[in-house]
Amino acid sequence: MKEASLHERHRAVMPDWLVNYYDDNPLELVSGSGRHVKDGDGRTYLDFFGGLLATMVGHDIPEITESLRRQAGRLLHSSTLYLIRSQVELAEKIAARAPVDNPRVFFVNSGSEAVETALLLTTTARKSNQVIALRGSYHGRSFGTVATTGIRGWSATSLSPLQVTYAHSGYRYRSPFGHLDEQASNAACRDELQTMIETSTSGNVACYLAEPVQGAGGFATPPDGFFLAMKEVLDAYEIPFVSDEVQSGWGRTGRSYFGIEHYGVRPQAITFAKGLANGLSIGGVVAENDLMNCLTANSISTSGGNPIAMATGNAVLDFIDSHELQANAAEVGRFLFDGLRELATRHSLIGEVRGAGLMLGVELVEPKTKIPAVAATNAVLAQCRERGLLIGKGGLLGNVLRVTPPMTVTLDEARQALGMLDDVLAHVTPQAERQADS
Ligand code: PMP
Repeated sequence: MKEASLHERHRAVMPDWLVNYYDDNPLELVSGSGRHVKDGDGRTYLDFFGGLLATMVGHDIPEITESLRRQAGRLLHSSTLYLIRSQVELAEKIAARAPVDNPRVFFVNSGSEAVETALLLTTTARKSNQVIALRGSYHGRSFGTVATTGIRGWSATSLSPLQVTYAHSGYRYRSPFGHLDEQASNAACRDELQTMIETSTSGNVACYLAEPVQGAGGFATPPDGFFLAMKEVLDAYEIPFVSDEVQSGWGRTGRSYFGIEHYGVRPQAITFAKGLANGLSIGGVVAENDLMNCLTANSISTSGGNPIAMATGNAVLDFIDSHELQANAAEVGRFLFDGLRELATRHSLIGEVRGAGLMLGVELVEPKTKIPAVAATNAVLAQCRERGLLIGKGGLLGNVLRVTPPMTVTLDEARQALGMLDDVLAHVTPQAERQADS
C-alpha cells in the first residue's frame, strides 16, 4: 500500500479548520538561515512572511540561537513562584520602551492570551463587559478574543462573554468616508465613534481595542492623526485604549518600537507576542500600574515568562538595538513600498499598496474595478512559491498580499523579491484582464 503523504496524515488527524497555504500542495519547512528557508525536498525560498510575522529577525541568528542553547542547558522551567532574572530584565526593557505611564509587565504564551489578559484587566477595572473593537480586526482564537475579532472568516462563534461593537478602522480603500481627505475622514470616523458609544453602549465601556496597523485585516493603515482623533472621544468617556501590537511591535513599522507611537497616542495598555521571541511562544501585556493591579485575586501563567522565552526575548531586543534594525525596517520598507507602488503602475491587478515599514499590503482587485481578486491572490501566492518567494495573504475578503520579511532583510533581497513578484504579476494579470473582459 502507498504510504500516506504528510499532508494526508495532517488532514486525517488535525482539525479541518486548521488550513494550510497552497491548497492541495502545502509546504513543509525544515530549516532556515537568515531570510532563507528550506523545504523537505531541499528547495530554498526567500522568506518574506516570517512564519506569520513571528520570525522577526531571521532564521538561525547566531546570537539568538546561542542564548537559547545556553539557557536550555541550564534550566527550562521554574514557574513564577520563583524569581526569574531574565523575566525581570525583559520586563524592565519593555517598560523602558513602551509609551505607557507607570508601566507594569505581565508575560503569557501567545497573542490570544495577551489580549485575553487586557480584556480581563479592562473589564474588571471598568466593571463593564462592553468593548469597542475595529472592523477588520484580528485579536486571537480564544473565546474572548474571537468575540473581538472583526473578520467574519476568523470569527467562528457569535457566543461571547463580551458585548462588542465595531467601530470604523481607518481602512480608507473601502471606507464609506474614503472619498474625503484624510483629516475629514478622521473626523467622520471620530463622530461615528461618538454616535456608536451613545447608541450602542451604556457609556461605561471597558476598552477600545485596536491594532495600529491591522494584521490579518490586510495591513489597513489608518492615516496620520486617526487614533488621536479617536482618543478625543475615548478620553471624554474615560475609555482605556488597548493597542494590540502583536504584529506591529518592536520596530517592524520602522517608525518606533510600537506602532501606536506614530499616532502620538499613549495607550493604557499594549499587548505583544510573536516576534519578541523570534517565533518561540511568548506574549504579554504592558499596562498602567492601576490597570494592571486592579485584579483582586491572584493570577498566574505557569509557563508564561519561562526562562527559555525570556532569554530569547532579551536576545531579540538587544539584537534589534545593536543592529539598528528599526532603521533597517524603515529603509528597506521604503524601498519595498516604492517598488510595489511602481509595480502597481504596470499591473492593473494591484488596487492599492499600503503599510508601514516591513508590514506591506498589496490589495488585488479585478482590473479597472475594486472587486476583490481572490482567485488571482491565491494564484500569485502559489506562483511566488514556485519562483522561490514566500509571502502571506490576508484581508477581510482574502485578496491582500502580505509582504513582511524579517527586520534583517537586505536591499538586495528586497530587490530579488520585487523581481519575482513582477514576473508573477506579469503572468497572472493578463489572465485576470481576460476574465474581466469576457
Ligand atoms: N492579535 C493580533 C494583532 C494578531 O495578529 C494575532 C495573531 N495573528 C493575535 C492577536 C493572536 O496571537 P496568537 O496566534 O499568538 O494567539
